[in-house]
Amino acid sequence: MTHSVCENIKEIELEIGNTQLVVVSKYRSLDELREVYTCGHRHFGENRVQELVEKQKNLPDDIHWHVIGHLQSNKIKYIAPFVHLIHSIDSMKLLKAVNKEAKKCGRTISFLFQLFIAQEETKFGLSPKELDGILSSDEFLELKNIKCDGLMGMASNTVNKAQVISEFKSLSSIFNRYRESHNWNTLSMGMSGDYNLAIGSGSTMIRVGSKIFNA
Ligand SMILES: *Cc1c(COP(=O)(O)O)cnc(C)c1O
Repeated sequence: MTHSVCENIKEIELEIGNTQLVVVSKYRSLDELREVYTCGHRHFGENRVQELVEKQKNLPDDIHWHVIGHLQSNKIKYIAPFVHLIHSIDSMKLLKAVNKEAKKCGRTISFLFQLFIAQEETKFGLSPKELDGILSSDEFLELKNIKCDGLMGMASNTVNKAQVISEFKSLSSIFNRYRESHNWNTLSMGMSGDYNLAIGSGSTMIRVGSKIFNA
């Protein structure tokens, strides 16, 4: 039997306790997003800027919009005025561009560094070494209109649970290394197929799409 979107969200929220749920609404219609909104949910994740902006214009102002996909520098200006959290920062160049647009809007934009943890070629992200390089650079400290709140990562798309757990644990250990000294709160890991494993490994925020929309 298929459950309604609201039933799916309730069920997931019961399972995950204090972990923050971001409903991944990419490819979903405005009506489907309104249904999620009416259930009381306010955190939405999108991976394409154009689609996100279109939806933001047509939906209530109290939605927290999360950018979860690869971001191009020339698109930042469209989301800078309102974006809640960018999960997918994977270079200093991109970060500088976000800082510049945030400054123009008089905002401080929160973001996560996306780390590459999977044994797959296709996923974006920094290596732990690159992360360390950025965090300890003077260049990074000079950016005043951005605030790093933690890390995001995606595990390999595999049925091998041990591998997924080991990838999540490696991200979690990097997160814990910097957490206190950098005042980080957010470890974004886990999607429809693996959020239970992610939470078991220390995730504080999951991004779930297909399981909610019965896709
Ligand atoms: C699509 C997407 C998700 C959600 O994936 P589901 O398997 O549909 O839950 C999460 N994170 C990112 C970065 C995505 O692109």
